[in-house]
Amino acid sequence: VIVHDAFVLRQQPKDFIRRLKGKAIEKITRRGKAVIIHLSSGEFLIVQLMMTGQLIANGAGDRHTRITFSFSGGSSLLYNDQRRFGQLRVVAQLKEIKHFNILGPEPFSKDFSPAFMREAFQKSIRPIKNVLLDHTFVAGIGNIYACEVLFRSRLSPKRQARRISLTEIKDMHRTIREVLREAITHRGSSLRNYRDGSGQKGRFNERLAVYARQGLPCPRCQKSILRVTLAGRGTFYCGHCQK
Ligand SMILES: [Zn+2]
Repeated sequence: VIVHDAFVLRQQPKDFIRRLKGKAIEKITRRGKAVIIHLSSGEFLIVQLMMTGQLIANGAGDRHTRITFSFSGGSSLLYNDQRRFGQLRVVAQLKEIKHFNILGPEPFSKDFSPAFMREAFQKSIRPIKNVLLDHTFVAGIGNIYACEVLFRSRLSPKRQARRISLTEIKDMHRTIREVLREAITHRGSSLRNYRDGSGQKGRFNERLAVYARQGLPCPRCQKSILRVTLAGRGTFYCGHCQK
């Protein structure tokens, strides 16, 4: 393990290297937006990519390469991060990651059901977009996907969560899974820096209906896409066909 830039570590480089050196990767899972690399020691390497982090297998490396992991078979894994908002940390137990303890259910899990959504929505006067982005409600729906889900569901991002009907909730539940599945099939959205594990750009951004498309025609009704700020995030929608 070579630490080129310890800024992205949440522990001392010496400790980080010691707990990784000589260990095998047994499997890789995910919680919310965090990558969980399971080590043969029983510990976990947690990688939060944030804005510009990239995990690239057998890449060439450049000035944004912050960590190089070399394997005994000659292969390698690079952690690149242009803006260095990402974080890496080795932990003995997942509960050490405080953020995991407050995360809501995974969108593909059984716990994330229309009934669960209804209960959460009923007590919320917040705009629906803010609820979708709240990771204590559901884990891992980012800004791009929240905007696209609301477009497909024909719901205004500003609508109060408690004013969404059960029929609309059932439709939104299906749409959330549909949008995320499509995004995974197209290997994510590379609007800027995102790359998959082989260094390739994701292509879901080519299919976006509203995100970052303000002033362009709505693909459904041709009226201009609008942009507002909700919960501090750029929010894109069609004022005509999202009510
Ligand atoms: Zn429209």
